[in-house]
Amino acid sequence: MATLLVKNAAVIVTMDDQRREIPQGAIFIRDGWIEEVGPSAAVTQEADEVLDLENHLLLPGLINTHHHFYQTLTRAIPAAQDADLFQWLKTLYPIWAGLTPEDIRISTQLALAELALSGCTTASDHLYIYPNGCRLDDQIEAAQQMGMRLHASRGSMSLGESKGGLPPDSVVEAEQAILKDTRRLIESYHDPEPGSMLQIVVAPCSPFSVTPDLMRQAAAIARSYGVRMHTHLAETLDEERFCLDEFGHRPLAYAEELDWAGDDVWFAHAVHINPDEVERMAKARIGVAHCPSSNMRLASGIAPIRRFLSAGVAVGLGVDGSASNDSSHMLAEVRQAFLLSRVGSAAAPEIDDSAHLLTARQALELATIGGAQVLGRTDVGSLEPGKCADFVAIDLDRLEYAGAMHDPAAAAVLCASVTVDYNYVQGKPVVYEGRLLPVEIETLVERHNRAAHRLTNGA
Ligand SMILES: [Zn+2]
Repeated sequence: MATLLVKNAAVIVTMDDQRREIPQGAIFIRDGWIEEVGPSAAVTQEADEVLDLENHLLLPGLINTHHHFYQTLTRAIPAAQDADLFQWLKTLYPIWAGLTPEDIRISTQLALAELALSGCTTASDHLYIYPNGCRLDDQIEAAQQMGMRLHASRGSMSLGESKGGLPPDSVVEAEQAILKDTRRLIESYHDPEPGSMLQIVVAPCSPFSVTPDLMRQAAAIARSYGVRMHTHLAETLDEERFCLDEFGHRPLAYAEELDWAGDDVWFAHAVHINPDEVERMAKARIGVAHCPSSNMRLASGIAPIRRFLSAGVAVGLGVDGSASNDSSHMLAEVRQAFLLSRVGSAAAPEIDDSAHLLTARQALELATIGGAQVLGRTDVGSLEPGKCADFVAIDLDRLEYAGAMHDPAAAAVLCASVTVDYNYVQGKPVVYEGRLLPVEIETLVERHNRAAHRLTNGA
């Protein structure tokens, strides 16, 4: 039995049911699980290892609910900088067609490195393009070296241009092959147990890149194994028009018709969702991965986050792919969610709730317990006895937080977004004294830049 005492934190933001914030706090951990949380003086003092976090803010590990790791290879592509979603995708699909298994591995590690340093301990990725022998296994193997929790989505595209879809035919797959591979991955890797480091998600890409039949069959497979379902939905007005033209429904009604409603479903974006649809999502207990940076970058719109929260919809945060955010910074995403909601309240009161403002703590909730709920996890997202010891700590003695010491928890949201000094997953360090432990960053960046150069120049 290995024990770890984390003590003297300036404040612990627990995100427990009472939303306790404990000054001079400590956590006692045994074999990666939290046994005690409280004031330092009240927690068991004898431990195999002691981490003294004096003058540090201690938060639950942040949870990223939507990403496309491979897109770190195509950040800031000039031709895709000033495009909306459909034009952006059409510019990037031919480049992504050159992805190799090694590219998947390098980009997975790079994205996870950036996520870890920005406070993330659990990441969900949506990989939906598999050219040149790429497999989800490539991502899973690369992620295992990083020591973080992964929810790996078996994404897919099957509706090519010749059949009325958006992606070129060269990057879509046959539906039977998709479904067979989905079953293989679930049976090979999915771990539903508490403390799970790896779960598989069933995730056809979007209404304009897969067929209704694949959506229906994917849902049936997911439910037969008890795994979760994820897709992009209601991201842009282009998509809404596509759904109305092709299927005669708005995006949510389209999803509902295909059995994509339930507490095992979460949608990325959910921007163009009207008040009636918010209520339907709440009733069906569908979750949302809110991706504010991406929604701003692609001029997609403002998701009705306050309205979702008032209705009881579970909302998590997603940095989204690094071609539509150009960053995988979790704390920055918390800040963006906070700021964009404020813009929404002022500029678009008809779509969001103008009577209330999203608070800094609510923004942190999205990235912690909100994300855990969206991913269907009760073992992470808060710091309380019985939960996984997933936590991050930020040294408060820093330029960015100067003048904000009356409220360190709010500083993490309101002040400039920083990298964390400690990141522990299941009681094991991934970041220690500001240094990422699993991989050497300089080497990784060099390999990643080489891969990005090859990929984008070959297009
Ligand atoms: Zn996405």
